[in-house]
Order: sequence, then C-alpha cells, then structure tokens
Amino acid sequence: MIPVNIPRFDGKEKEYLIECIDTGWISSEGPFVKKFEEQFANYSERKFGISVANGSVALDIAVEALGIRKGDEVIMPTFTIISCAAAVIRAGATPIFVDSDPKTWNMNVGQIEPKITSKTKAIMVVHIYGLPCEMEPILKIANKYGLKIIEDAAEMHGQTYNGKKCGSFGDLSTFSFYANKHISTGEGGMILTNNKILAEDCRSLRNLCFKPERRFVHDRLGWNYRMSNIQAAIGLAQLENIDKILKRKREIGQLYNSFLKNLKSIETPLEETEYAKNVYWVYGIIVKNNSKIKYNEIIKKLEEKKIGVRPFFWCMHEQPVFNKMGLYKGESFPIAENFARNGFYVPSGVGTTNDQIEKVATSILEILDE
Ligand SMILES: *Cc1c(COP(=O)(O)O)cnc(C)c1O
Repeated sequence: MIPVNIPRFDGKEKEYLIECIDTGWISSEGPFVKKFEEQFANYSERKFGISVANGSVALDIAVEALGIRKGDEVIMPTFTIISCAAAVIRAGATPIFVDSDPKTWNMNVGQIEPKITSKTKAIMVVHIYGLPCEMEPILKIANKYGLKIIEDAAEMHGQTYNGKKCGSFGDLSTFSFYANKHISTGEGGMILTNNKILAEDCRSLRNLCFKPERRFVHDRLGWNYRMSNIQAAIGLAQLENIDKILKRKREIGQLYNSFLKNLKSIETPLEETEYAKNVYWVYGIIVKNNSKIKYNEIIKKLEEKKIGVRPFFWCMHEQPVFNKMGLYKGESFPIAENFARNGFYVPSGVGTTNDQIEKVATSILEILDE
C-alpha cells in the first residue's frame, strides 16, 4: 500500500518531545508554544502568532474576531474545505461563492466584485493545493470597498506571492498543521496578524475569554482551542526544517510532472504563474471530459493497485447540509463542479519516496493507456 500521505520527522522532533516529558510541560502553558508562535509568525513575515487546536477553529476565531455577524456576507470560493463556510454559517452570516479559475484552481478573482453588496464584510481567500491566489487585485477590491481579508493559508506554509509570504496578506491569516500539511503537529493551527488588538482578541477567544483581572469571570464567550506544548514541540522542530520540506514538495511535484505532464486524458497542476512557483501541497489530477477512461474507473483501478488517492473538495454550494438550510439551490459554478467531479490527488506527502512516486505515475500511465 502506498498511503496518500507519509509525514517525515527527521529533525529535532524527538529531542523536543522528550524535553516536554522530562520537564513536565505538556499543556499549552509550556515554553514551546510561545517559541513556535513567535518563530512561525516571524518566518511568515507577521508580528503576532496565535496557536490553536487546528486550522478549522482558526477560521472560527478569525470570523468572530472580525465581528462578522448575522446578516453579514463573506465572499469565498465554492471550491474549498467546509471549514471556511462553516465558520461563517456558525456566526450567523452567509458565505457568498465564486467559481474557480480553470488554470490555477484558485478563486476566480474577476467574479468577486459583482458579488459585493451592502452586506459584504469580508473576502475569505483560500490558497488551493499549491499555487497562491492572485492577491494584488483582491487587495485592491478589499481596499476599495472597505472589506476585511481572512486568508486561509492552511496549504501554503512558506509559499510566496510575488516574493511575499502567504499568510502575510490577511487582516487575519490562518494555517493548519494537520498531518498532511507541510508542517505538521498532528492536529494544530495558527492565526497570524500584524494588528495587536486583533491578536489579543484571538488569544482571548482561544482561551475561553478569561478576564485577565479575574480568572473564571467572562463577559464574552470563547472556546478552549489551545495548542499543547507537545504539539508545539513537533511544530517547532518541523519549522526548523521548512526549507528542506518545501524543496522536497517541489521535487515530488516535478517528478510527477516528468511522467504525467501533457497527457491527452488528464490535466496536471500548473508549474508556475507570474507570481509563484507551485509548491504542490498535494499533486492533483483532473480527468478531462474527453478522456475515454472516466474518473470512477481510474480511482477504482488505482485502489486495486493499492495506491492511496483522495477525491478533490466537493463544492460548498452543493453541500447537502447547506442545501437543507435552503441555501444555494439552483446556483451553479461549472469550473468548480468539474474539479469536484473529476479531480483527485495522489500520494505526495514529504515522506513519499521517489520509487513510490514512480510506481504511482507508471500505474496511472498504464491505466490511461497513454
Ligand atoms: C486543512 C485545511 C483546513 C483545515 O485544517 P484542519 O487543521 O484540518 O482543521 C482549512 N482550510 C484549508 C484550505 C485546508 O486545506
């Protein structure tokens, strides 16, 4: 079996974990948490880092901290993970979707402005799979209409847009450190910002909104979304290796490209744009509509060959949970719908070996008969 993700821990992970045990610091009060926050924020060109339990709750906190409420609208791509839309829905606000760009697979920037109404509060930017969103026009629109930016950079640690780090563009920017992200803490997340007041707000929201002057007294509802010292220990060790990790991710993508680029029946990730080189968080493949062998058949055959695959995201406007609320009925975003129906990704974790990649790629060539 070749798993869809194999993590790699070849830095100081063990050393730091043993330090947690030996010193007894295992909770969020331990010293690795602050170190990891500071160093990750610094690496990502931000002033403040607030670690949290995962990338989904980072978005919950971001939405709450920006004061997004009932009646508000937030523009985001329909092609994303449910965490983005869920955070907005839970706040009582409404996600408004845009379609994807067929080349970069990110949100179609040209569709944002027509969706702005008097209710629009923010744009939630999500960098998808390996290439960043086109930030310059998005920032211009946000500026013109006075909108906040929530930047979901869960898949983009260390990626840059025109030389500037992803995660440095949002009023609040969020990351995930789930096992398949470039930097992993098993489960974990981070919020980054340059705004001191927002940073303090996020810190409070993550920690049950205890009043500093009298613990156990609250004038606001928060959550316990804290990261533990054990998680931060692993995160810090991974961060020390980030250059190596990003280099390996790009090697993996290029190796897949060398086998699979320019085939008739599939589309592979764009290698670069004017503003970024793909970092291949996952190596995605989209089966073209004119392919003789269809998506389901390809997935079935890869699974028979014991190759781990995952389907692409399912569009937000087609989620049963939202449709049952009476939302998005009759809306259509054809590019994203095609991605959701014909896209999948193959083993591309940092620990995946060249031999495994060759095996996956040659299996795909065989299945496609190309
Ligand atoms: C992984 C991911 C998340 C969620 O992160 P978790 O840590 O799994 O909760 C959010 N947004 C995007 C774009 C992701 O890829």
